[in-house]
Amino acid sequence: MSQQSVPVTPGNFSVWFDYAMGTSPALRKTIDILIGNKRKFDASINRELYATFVKPQSDAEVDLPEQLQNLISNAREFLATAISDNRSQIETLGEVTSQAQTSSDPRSIIEKLVDELARANARAAALETNFIASTEELDRIRDSLKAAEERSNTDPLTGLANRRSMDAFFRSAQIAAMEGDEPLSILMIDIDHFKKFNDTYGHQVGDQVLRLVAKVLQENVRDSDFAARYGGEELIAVLRGTDLAACVEVAERIRLRIAEARLTRRTTGQAISSITVSIGVAQFRLAESAEAMIDRCDRGLYEAKRLGRNRTVTENDIEGETAAA
Ligand code: GH3
Ligand code: MG
Ligand code: MG
Repeated sequence: MSQQSVPVTPGNFSVWFDYAMGTSPALRKTIDILIGNKRKFDASINRELYATFVKPQSDAEVDLPEQLQNLISNAREFLATAISDNRSQIETLGEVTSQAQTSSDPRSIIEKLVDELARANARAAALETNFIASTEELDRIRDSLKAAEERSNTDPLTGLANRRSMDAFFRSAQIAAMEGDEPLSILMIDIDHFKKFNDTYGHQVGDQVLRLVAKVLQENVRDSDFAARYGGEELIAVLRGTDLAACVEVAERIRLRIAEARLTRRTTGQAISSITVSIGVAQFRLAESAEAMIDRCDRGLYEAKRLGRNRTVTENDIEGETAAA
């Protein structure tokens, strides 16, 4: 920290402690890239590093579902029984061996061995049954965990990713952008006068429109990009390897598709007035957090609304803003 002239505050200390311990590979890479680029660790970069890499980790505790805990305790119990059975089998075989050395009655020795063999067979069969049941149970748990994970990352109305999974995607995309020295941009869509639309046509028709906007967004980004529902009627996309100008092109394509769409009420087939959207666009700046980037994008969006809606505005179009570094 002293080499980079970073003040020793509790926040900075957490960042550099994690860096030194190597607990977060993403943090390590980011700081190494910043040092490599001879960036100054000023107050703003220190704050971003803390917000991006230290703060989010503290609320990532996961509870093991009850089902999985039951399975583990059954397995533990079964293993304890198997070990004790095994021990008693070794003891019996030991007794039979010493009897064979002293006794001249082969019949009783053979009877004992046959007995022991039958018990061993029964145990092996029970073990197999239990193993199969446990494997099936594990498969069921894995499937339900996977479905739960998908649900927790998906917005049920639009089928797009939700804000939670967008944060995780953004973190990996920003690392990739810094490593590959590639641009990364986002666009944020907000439906124009949506409140009025809902009031006129009802919330259900509003939901139908929201789904349409989500569909157009998804269709106009690549598989390697990321589209999410950010809030109520706000959608967002993260575009990899895309600079501000290219992102504006995508945004404009989306905006025009939506404005051109002819809507009809699903129940009656009756025509509905067309809708428009406003879009903000911003390009990622080295080491900034998702919040900082979204904030700049949001200012573009706000400006688009102020200028009369149905348009795309970037941070560079806003008067008094400095160009992206
Ligand atoms: P502006 O052009 O300034 O964006 O006007 P607006 O009315 O769209 O702006 P505002 O953000 O004030 O209102 C957003 C509205 O979006 C409020 C709410 O009725 C609507 N909305 C938010 N989420 C949903 C949703 O899930 N379904 C529907 N149908 N409407 C929603
Ligand atoms: Mg809004
Ligand atoms: Mg709106």
